[in-house]
Amino acid sequence: MILRAHEPIAAIATAPGRGGIGVIRISGRNLEPLVVRLTGKALQPRHAHYLPFNDSRGQAMDAGIALFFKGPQSYTGEDVLELQGHGGPAVLRRVLQHCLEAGRDAGLRLAEPGEFTQRAFLNDRMDLAQAEAVADLVNASSEAAARSAMASLSGAFSEKVNALSDRIVRLRMLVEATLDFPEEEIDFLEKYQAAATLGGIRQDLAALTAQARQGMILREGLHVVLAGQPNVGKSSLLNALAGDEIAIVTPIAGTTRDKVIQQIHIDGVPMHIIDTAGLRETEDTVESIGIARTWAEIEKANVILHLQDARNPQDALDSAITARLPAGTPVLKVNNKVDLLSDGQAPWETADDAANNPDAGPHRTLYISARTGAGLDELRRRLLDIAGWNPGAESPWLARERHLAALESARDRLAVAAGHASHNDQVLDLFAEELRLAHEALCAITGQFTSDDLLGEIFSSFCIGK
Ligand code: GDP
Ligand code: ZN
Repeated sequence: MILRAHEPIAAIATAPGRGGIGVIRISGRNLEPLVVRLTGKALQPRHAHYLPFNDSRGQAMDAGIALFFKGPQSYTGEDVLELQGHGGPAVLRRVLQHCLEAGRDAGLRLAEPGEFTQRAFLNDRMDLAQAEAVADLVNASSEAAARSAMASLSGAFSEKVNALSDRIVRLRMLVEATLDFPEEEIDFLEKYQAAATLGGIRQDLAALTAQARQGMILREGLHVVLAGQPNVGKSSLLNALAGDEIAIVTPIAGTTRDKVIQQIHIDGVPMHIIDTAGLRETEDTVESIGIARTWAEIEKANVILHLQDARNPQDALDSAITARLPAGTPVLKVNNKVDLLSDGQAPWETADDAANNPDAGPHRTLYISARTGAGLDELRRRLLDIAGWNPGAESPWLARERHLAALESARDRLAVAAGHASHNDQVLDLFAEELRLAHEALCAITGQFTSDDLLGEIFSSFCIGK
């Protein structure tokens, strides 16, 4: 990706393929001459102009709407020209090609992926978390994810992060100011209730982190691997879970015993369900390749569904599978085909199953029928539960790994700072330093650079004479 380039850029902004309309977007610092060359006149900014898109000989390639945005009041913060024509790949390519030729002497070139949004960030039209939300909104695979991405885009997440940052900075300003007056250091922490203030910040940071974790599940989804012996009903369960979801079953090239991934949604939470080759002892090389891949998938899973036949659960082979499952990955034991059990053999129907089941509790065995659908609602609930999904609290924004890492790093810094504060000894400078590092960690989320101007902030907003 090209950072801080200034030459004008152009691209087809709509999805490839055919559509009602197709949009070509051009962004650059001074596009007016190019606008005249392309449209034949100076365009009044923010007005729709219907006109032909002519080639270099004046022949119309298409006709449509031209929209001009004068920077900085534009998406990128630069001048932006949008040509909205008919949405066919050939016609759009022609118009784009003509734009590139017409703008060649101004340095116009094809945009890199994400470069319009990158410019929007570099020109302060949005912060980093918002820029990321643009991609998340486009990529959202469920309505819940789209809602959350839009919230991030409009700044909901950034506002929370900035508010916490500000509180950390204010506390640090107090400390820094006190450092200049050593006689005040002694009772600083008490006088300004620094420990209590810090405690409040840490609490709110923890709440924000919990929300971010929800947002990450919503964005990334969970990788759920169906493991078990052949014929226990893994593929049937996959189909049952997919239900009438517009299923994109993706057979990965290779043998029929290879894996199949299907994305489903449970309450808007994406789950990537991976059906695998049945696990058993085998001499067949083709099958053993499938089995090796299954184990590779199991190693990468967020959740493992260990499917068994309810009529004959946990036999020797199942015990061998159980023993080989990676420690640390949540395993859900699911006994399938309960419809084939005779009455009185159906343990999921006994009311106090949880109390009587030897492996009761969150990891107790589930009883289902992929055929009749019995127990599937409970299975869905348990999957969400294992994912750490809190159904009552839909995440107000999508979050990424790096956001979570930054929040956790800030949390760790503040924990160290709290340690210093609790001693109430002469470690104010260390206290201040941890606050600075926590602030920096949070700033990484929105991408702002602040550590250098912190001093200026201290002396401009803090009344030092007091
Ligand atoms: P896999 O090898 O683990 O993927 O198992 P399949 O999904 O291919 O199922 C193996 C056989 O068991 C098929 O004949 C299914 O129709 C049958 N089957 C799967 N689930 C159930 C169930 O819940 N009840 C009954 N009665 N049959 C099932
Ligand atoms: Zn199967």
